[in-house]
Amino acid sequence: MIVTIDGPSGVGKSTVTKELAARLGFEYLNTGAMYRAVALAVLRLGIRPSDETAVTAALPSVRVEVPPGCILLNGENVTTAIRAPEVSRGASEVAVHRAVRLMLVAAQRAAATGHDMICDGRDQGSFVFPTADCKFFLVADARVRAERRAAELAAKGDMVSVEDVMRDQEERDRRDALRELAPMAPASDAMVLDTTRLTTNEVINRLENVVRD
Ligand code: C5P
Repeated sequence: MIVTIDGPSGVGKSTVTKELAARLGFEYLNTGAMYRAVALAVLRLGIRPSDETAVTAALPSVRVEVPPGCILLNGENVTTAIRAPEVSRGASEVAVHRAVRLMLVAAQRAAATGHDMICDGRDQGSFVFPTADCKFFLVADARVRAERRAAELAAKGDMVSVEDVMRDQEERDRRDALRELAPMAPASDAMVLDTTRLTTNEVINRLENVVRD
């Protein structure tokens, strides 16, 4: 069984996906981490993430693997390194390139083969798993998303203003929505849930009820 959870930056997909996977006993695939790993690889090679030709040429030397609970780049555990702010920006830029998407979409489909899995991202229900059993698209007010993300960062000792987070989110969301291949959008058969006034637990309970039905 495949469950997809898509939506814009900072909507809380990864927290919800992890907890829902634990409740259901499913595996969990964080596809954003895969775009982040490619961005980290090209940044380390001194390539600008927006340079489609150079990024595409570098892909044969970039191996991204997703064993449960971590992400490997050419065999190295980069689970922490991919959370750096420059990698977030770079991920959003490399995600526009066709060759990057095709490589990671193939890896995502391979990772899900033969497993009960919950996949979170931007295009999981609309493009990667069009026949998924349950599809969700989470949305929330942009300011509330930015406030949640800023609070999360502050808890880790990273003080960033809500305005800065909002600006960064808007830029990434715009790029995700406008790209040519697999733009961020709810699948026609996805359940769209506005989480602005819901707690994380309420969101997970709703999704769990739908999946178990
Ligand atoms: O979700 P996260 O912020 O970790 O994703 C990093 C970037 O990867 C996003 O800004 C988005 O541009 C890209 N992405 C994507 N398709 C996905 C998952 C993430 O384009 N399925």
